[in-house]
Amino acid sequence: MKKEKSIEDVHAYVKRVAEKRGWKLNPNTDGTLDMLVDGLKIYFNRVGYFNCPCRDSFEDMATDRDIICPCNYAEPDIEEHGRCYCALYFDPDYDFSIPVEMIPERRIEPEW
Ligand code: SF4
Repeated sequence: MKKEKSIEDVHAYVKRVAEKRGWKLNPNTDGTLDMLVDGLKIYFNRVGYFNCPCRDSFEDMATDRDIICPCNYAEPDIEEHGRCYCALYFDPDYDFSIPVEMIPERRIEPEW
């Protein structure tokens, strides 16, 4: 049984990921960062891994492997759109004065 994660643990985790990958975190001006961190925490404490907070989980690590945060799609999405699908991670040069728009889902979801 994995130890439960707190909000502080998950904030520290996403900060470490952003630093390691050279990305910026969502600036949280509208509470999006807090909401995504809370979603990651809830998933971790339910399924045992950081399932993407914007995507449904199969609650099976092998099936969800591509959407364990940071997901396989974050890097190409940040390259193409300047941000990941959930808007957690951004390109370091992202201009936050431009409103954050939806971006297309790159993942082909497995069959339920
Ligand atoms: S879209 Fe963003 S928040 Fe979701 S798993 Fe990928 S990197 Fe994490």
